[in-house]
Formats: sequence, structure tokens, C-alpha cells
Amino acid sequence: MNQISIPYRAIQALPDNLISQIAAGEVVERPSAVVKELLENALDAGATSITVRLEEGGVKRIAIADNGRGIPVDQLPLAVERHATSKISSLEELENVATLGFRGEALASIASVALLTLTTRTFDAPHAWQIENGKTTPASGAQGTTVDVQDLYYNTPARRKFLKSEQTEFGHCAEVVKRIALARPDVSFSLSHNGKTIDHWNISAIDKRSATILGENFASARLALDESAGPLRLHGFIGLPTASKGRADAQFFYVNGRYVRDKLLTHAVRAAYQDVLHGDRYPSYVIALDLDPALVDVNVHPSKIEVRFRDSRAVHQFVFHAVNRALAQTSATAFGTVPAPATASLADPGTSASGKMPWVSGEQTSFPTQFPPITSTANYQDYFNQPRPQGVGVAQSTGNYGALFGTGASSGTAGQGNANPLPDDEHPLGFALAQLHGVYVLAQNTKGLVLIDMHAAHERILYEQLKNALDENAMPVQPMLIPITFYADAVEVGTAEENAEVLKSLGFDIAAISPTTLAVRSVPALLKNADAQSLARDVLREVREFGGSRVLIDRRNELLGTLACHTAVRANRSLTVLEMNALLRRMEQTERADQCNHGRPTWVQLGLNDLDRMFLRGQ
Ligand code: ADP
Ligand code: MG
Repeated sequence: MNQISIPYRAIQALPDNLISQIAAGEVVERPSAVVKELLENALDAGATSITVRLEEGGVKRIAIADNGRGIPVDQLPLAVERHATSKISSLEELENVATLGFRGEALASIASVALLTLTTRTFDAPHAWQIENGKTTPASGAQGTTVDVQDLYYNTPARRKFLKSEQTEFGHCAEVVKRIALARPDVSFSLSHNGKTIDHWNISAIDKRSATILGENFASARLALDESAGPLRLHGFIGLPTASKGRADAQFFYVNGRYVRDKLLTHAVRAAYQDVLHGDRYPSYVIALDLDPALVDVNVHPSKIEVRFRDSRAVHQFVFHAVNRALAQTSATAFGTVPAPATASLADPGTSASGKMPWVSGEQTSFPTQFPPITSTANYQDYFNQPRPQGVGVAQSTGNYGALFGTGASSGTAGQGNANPLPDDEHPLGFALAQLHGVYVLAQNTKGLVLIDMHAAHERILYEQLKNALDENAMPVQPMLIPITFYADAVEVGTAEENAEVLKSLGFDIAAISPTTLAVRSVPALLKNADAQSLARDVLREVREFGGSRVLIDRRNELLGTLACHTAVRANRSLTVLEMNALLRRMEQTERADQCNHGRPTWVQLGLNDLDRMFLRGQ
């Protein structure tokens, strides 16, 4: 999203053969479209400060002032002429265009449906000039350009009738300003409506600009992204599932600095989120794709909101994998490089090994700062080192769920006893101290306190295990010593018989032993602790509703999520410290362990500094 700086060029009429190559169509169908065209012109002119003043939703007035390079007086008449532009002059330039505008039509189109006054001054001009109705007169003003558009569609009342309410039109205009401001944090923007200032964004870095525009919820639960492959680079911020929304209104995708709404790109991102987001939630993101302009055609649509890639498959793949990889890194082993998905005030984004927050490129002011230095931990060391009664706050376990979570082979024996070993860097989630109300596990790590939602965490682990097993076509199966039988209706029996192969690949053996009885003879080993009958019923319902092959492809992850949810350790089940530590070790080994597959966080970190703050220590 670098500033576009092009040397000054004269405005020229486009040759006819080029005009015919340019996507034709209406560019000013509503006030927000005028705002967009004028903002693009200001950015193309190298402005670093832009003021947008609107009246009555932009219908009465749109005045946009910039401090860009201005237009030399002798070129003013050409600027408002149709098919005249300073930005391209040949087909080759059209194919490599790096400016936002290039059609040479916006000012002329606007002037044909509104009263347009353009005031401009170049750095070397003794004063400003103004053009209105084809007449150029001296004016006053600083370097830059102000375009004042009044009474939109005054001469086409039929068009005017199609406009929506003032608030709606204003909303569209504000959205356009927001989109452009997100792409250009290096430019300051202010927006006013009917004399009231609505937004003002100072020049800042992208992390700060996007935090301001998308809000605290996004700022405290996002990941930085920056990946390159050959001529493609994808960078920006993607929201964790906790920052997802019920509407797709926080999705900003840019191609070479241009906001686009492109099916291919939206789909690629959506697919990358599939594992961590429920179907009715929409991820939040600000993502920029930069590539050689020759590899993308921006001349598909008059308002340039759609683009066409030379190699759309490659772009889709690249975007999908980059986003997917970033999301997969939110496993607990990457702990310390992602913001814990907690409430904004308590979340600490953590630091990487180098101590620098990896998603922050430039200045960073929107996040809380570093973790406390080690010395502050020492204050607590004595307390932690005190021997404490065994099983404090831990209800006695009624069974051994260590096997349920797996024992975390790679973690050796550390932390598996009740000895409350001291936290170390090899165990990012630390060691369990206690279980709270049968729901949360309390653990201590080097940074402070970790709270884990044990059901959500276990669900996520199971889900990933099931997915891997299915991917490898190696679902471990647990045969039942005594098959579980249950009453089934004719459709259920039929479904089981017709889809025996599909069920088998999922680890289920469900056989009809009478016209009204089904017997579960095996279940996936990972789910052996769940109620076999309800598992079988769920899987049959899915197969029946969506068809066997769809369940394995389109619906696979939903199904696995449902199954994992059944099996995950329920609230109010007491765990021993050993079991809790086994759960923590498992989480550390699991991809995307940060979020359960319903998009809820599985754990939060309370740093010592957060705790200090709560107790007003050192303030
Ligand atoms: P296009 O942007 O496609 O070239 P426009 O009709 O939007 O067509 O603008 C015509 C020309 O007027 C531009 O090519 C540019 O040279 C000049 N121009 C328009 N707006 C500005 C501005 N805000 N600052 C400097 N030059 C401008
Ligand atoms: Mg333009």
C-alpha cells in the first residue's frame, strides 16, 4: 500500500483506439461514486491530506480538497473533458496501469450531472485558478485541488428519484472513504457531513489505521500476515474467529492498492477460515494483494471494483494457503506470537522470541506494551515455590481421563504429576494448578495465569485429530465388544445400509439387525468415550440430509465438529492435575488450538502485568 508517485504528465485526449478498449459505463450513479472518483484523483495526484465535506448525503454538495500536485492552468479545460487523462496514453500503459484512475472520464461525467467547480494550484503557480462551466478565472487557494460538486442530478430529476434517503447515501459515501483510508494510512483523511465532523484519521501505520477503523474488537484479536510467492505478495491483518461478525461488513480486500470485491478472492479467504469459523459468521480482515500490474486486468468494470487475474487459479491457491497457514499458526505452540483471544482490556498480544510483535511493521501504539521483565516474576516466585496441599481446588477425579486427552508423548513426564512444576518456555501453556467450577482449568505459565475452557479445548483437539485421520484415510476404529443396538425407523435403516462405505471411512460400522434395529459395531477410536448411540444417530442424520458423498466433502468439517462436541469432556467432569496437564500438552501440539471450532476462544492469558494492574500494583 505504498504511495503511488508518478512523475507529472500532461493531460491528453485519449486516442480513439484506446477509448474503445476502456470498460465503458456509468461511473457516477450515486453520490458515493462521485466521492470515490474524486478521492482516487486526489491520491493519484500524490496528496497526503484529503478533506471530504458532504451535505445532504452528498446530493446537495460534495467538496473534496487535497494537497496534491495540482493542475497547470493551461491544462484545466482538458481535465474536465471526456476521454482526457494524464495517466495513460497507450495500450501498453493501460495494461500496466499503476494509478487508480485512467479512464479520463470522471470529471467530465460529474460535470454533466452536477455543477462542478474545480480550484487548483501547482507548486510553481503564483496563485490558484478556478474552472467552472468551461470558464477559467484566477482564484485564491493553497497548493492542491478542490473539487466542489453541487446539486447532483439537478438536470436529471428522474435519476435523482432513484437515490435513497440522505442517511443511506451518506452511509455509502462514508464507506467509500473508509475503504480508501484503509488502503492509504500514509494519507490523512477527514470527513464531515452537514457541517459536523464525522471522522478524522491522521497519517499513521496500517496497524493503527486499521485498528481505528475496524475497532477494538478487531485490534485485539487479529493476526498479521505477510507472505510472498514469486510475483505475489499478500499482507495485512486477518481477524481471529473471535473478531468475526454476523455480517460481512468488515472485509476489506485490496489489489494493488485498489479496493475490490472479487468473488475469487472472497472465496479463497472464506475457504481458509472454514476450519475455524461457523458458516453463519463472517471473518474480519484487511488484506492487500500486490502483484505485477500486468498480471491483473483492472479494466473489467467501469468502477474498477472487479478485477481479472491472468492466472486466477494460482492467485486463489496463494491467497487460500497464506491465510490458512496464518490461522493454523494460532496453535498454542505459537503462543506468544498471537494475541490471546480475550477481552480487549485483559488481552496481551504477547511477544515473539525476539521481543518484537511480529505483525507490527512500523510504529505501534494500539497495543499494550511488552510483558513485564523477568524480574517482576521474581516477586511471585516465593509464593509459587511454597509447598501447597495437594489437589487444592481440584475435586478428586472419578476416572482416568489422561487417556482421553492422550499423554502428550513428546512432553515427557514434566508436569504430569501433582508437583506443580515451575513453568518453562517448553510448555507455553504452563502447568495446571486447579479446576474452577468444573469448567475452567487454571494454569501457570512463565507469563502469568492461563485460563482454559476445557470443553472447548478438548473439542478442538478432537476435531483436528479426526480431520487428520480422515485426511490420511486412516481413521482408527474401536470395535465394540458388545454392539450397541437401538430402535431405528425405516429411513435410518435404509440410510445405514446404503451408506455403509461412507460410514466405514468415518470409522463407523452400523448394521441393520432387524427392519427396525440398528447395531453400532464400531466407532472412531477417538470418540470411544462418547455415547455410541447418539454419535450414530448424528452421523446418520447428516448422511441422510446431505447425502453420503457430500458429507465426506462439503459437510465433512461440520460433521467432525458435531462429533467432537459430543465427545469432548463435559463441564462438571472433574479432572486430576495429571489429566489437566495432559490436556495442556495436547493443546500445544494441536493446530488452531486457540479457538474451538465454533470460533470461541479456548484459552486466555492473564499476564502478571494484567494482574498487577487489577490489583493496582506499582501504580
Ligand atoms: P482520470 O483520473 O481517469 O485521468 P479524471 O476525469 O478523473 O480522469 O481526471 C482527468 C485528469 O485531471 C486526470 O488525469 C488528472 O491529470 C487531472 N486531475 C483530476 N483530479 C485531480 C486532482 N485532484 N489533482 C490533480 N490533478 C487532477
Ligand atoms: Mg479519475
